[in-house]
Amino acid sequence: ETLIQEEEEYVFKSQFPAVAVPDNVTLPEFVLQDAELYADNVAIVEAISGKEYTYGKVVRDVRRVAKSLTSLGLRKGRVVVVVLPNVAEYPIISLGIMAAGGVFSGANPSAHASEIQKQVELSDAKLIISSGATYEKVKDLKVPVIVIGEERIESTISWDELLEAADRAGSDFVGYEAVKQTDLCALPFSSGTTGTSKGVMLTHRNLVANLCSSLFSIGPDMVGHVTTLGLMPFFHIYGITGICCATMKNKGKVVVMGRFELRMFLNALITHEVIFAPIVPPIMLALVKNPVVDEFDLSRLKLRAVMTAAAPLAPELLSSFEDKFPGVQVQEAYGLTEHSCITLTHGDPLKGHVTAKKNSVGFILPNLEIKFIDPDTGRSLPRNTPGEVCVRSQCVMQGYYKNEEETERTIDAKGWLHTGDIGYIDDDGDVFIVDRIKEMIKYKGFQVAPAELEAILLSHPSVEDAAVVPLADEEAGEIPAAYVVMNPNAKESEEDIMEFVATNVASYKRVKLLRFVDSIPKSPSGKIMRRLLRDTLEKRSRPQ
Ligand code: AMP
Repeated sequence: ETLIQEEEEYVFKSQFPAVAVPDNVTLPEFVLQDAELYADNVAIVEAISGKEYTYGKVVRDVRRVAKSLTSLGLRKGRVVVVVLPNVAEYPIISLGIMAAGGVFSGANPSAHASEIQKQVELSDAKLIISSGATYEKVKDLKVPVIVIGEERIESTISWDELLEAADRAGSDFVGYEAVKQTDLCALPFSSGTTGTSKGVMLTHRNLVANLCSSLFSIGPDMVGHVTTLGLMPFFHIYGITGICCATMKNKGKVVVMGRFELRMFLNALITHEVIFAPIVPPIMLALVKNPVVDEFDLSRLKLRAVMTAAAPLAPELLSSFEDKFPGVQVQEAYGLTEHSCITLTHGDPLKGHVTAKKNSVGFILPNLEIKFIDPDTGRSLPRNTPGEVCVRSQCVMQGYYKNEEETERTIDAKGWLHTGDIGYIDDDGDVFIVDRIKEMIKYKGFQVAPAELEAILLSHPSVEDAAVVPLADEEAGEIPAAYVVMNPNAKESEEDIMEFVATNVASYKRVKLLRFVDSIPKSPSGKIMRRLLRDTLEKRSRPQ
């Protein structure tokens, strides 16, 4: 007889039946499986230029990209860093890299040159794909560059040359290496629960499984009829798979937008008859508050649903949006890069019958297991009790690239991914996210890693210590705020130090509030007491 009793676990599964995930198919094969049957349908259109790619051309060009990258020497498992805004060629390039056995790693085109350099170095990238505009940031990295667009830049390869190289390789080309579903295909960067940005290793299997889970509710009547707005950044896994791959798998059309500007956005929705628009809360806020919206005849919108993800959605914002855009369903979703993106959602609102409670982030997708644990004891918690969200499924990343320590901290021995978010599940199976305990700051949905900003602050000769924490902000969701201990002889002002950070990071990572303090509160083990700082800042910044 054993004295050790199995500890009771509260594990929640999807209320929907499991869905099959096909074996032996890579992500590009899965997405473009039947595309030749509807070769003349438009798959991708650029909102402003009107440049179009039919499914036939997408299939052809994905093959050509794969072939020429292989003939240029790209080998299986090698990383290609893509530094591009959202353009029509983006999904073709990423699927082409994957079809060749390569690993697609998207970088934010607005990142600082030093940030892109870090990503190239950390991922051991052997090739970079950029645009004319982002070339400046990558030209000194001693890695070959392919430049997309009309521009010809010396000592780089142009898009046309790339495709021509494939044609020259001829039809008897046999350079491909066999690509398996278990091979890596994407390496997006995320800071995870702590520290600086790390490469998140995702396989074809991870991403195919995530698509199967998230597309389960699309009715056959919707296939071929969904025009989706491609505004969320394609360098983020949500943009490339959640938007581009999901839409193409369903024979829909992606309307590509490179940046957000309200008039352009509304014009694109109307002109291209967009019916599904994945956005983030700050865009929703603009749609509700900005008077520019009143210049438009909203009855011309074909829009039937918006999806909002990446950051919490305030209940008041949701209600104001519903008042202003009656008939447009709001579908909140929750996910994270380490889980191949989508994890909880409201199902397909276009179909109407699979939804979750308003103000919840949705229900558990098929094939996933979720538990909520006490962050201190690790014990799983029953319904209606907030705890750290943990998820286990085929979508969990393989780990952080060359970083076993952080991988072990994030995925436990039983395969649970610890998200660093706090939430609970109610009696109906709807999940609510109520807090974030990881260090990550979300500015307009973009990740900002405090550890990165702290390292930059500490590199200033007059700074002795620094801590960066999030501060709630209506427009951005959160802004990075810094506490800094200065050298006693320092002459610089708070503004000077903010300016110093600003010159070293992408604009969305800038410190928006900075205070000089005498010391940074630390735990006995030397860890910054972020929660304490966060609470202090919040209190101080509140109007008196
Ligand atoms: P990323 O890896 O960039 O997609 O960031 C993932 C993180 O964004 C999650 O771990 C959450 O902290 C946050 N997040 C994503 N979706 C939501 C949501 N619907 N509500 C609240 N936080 C969210």
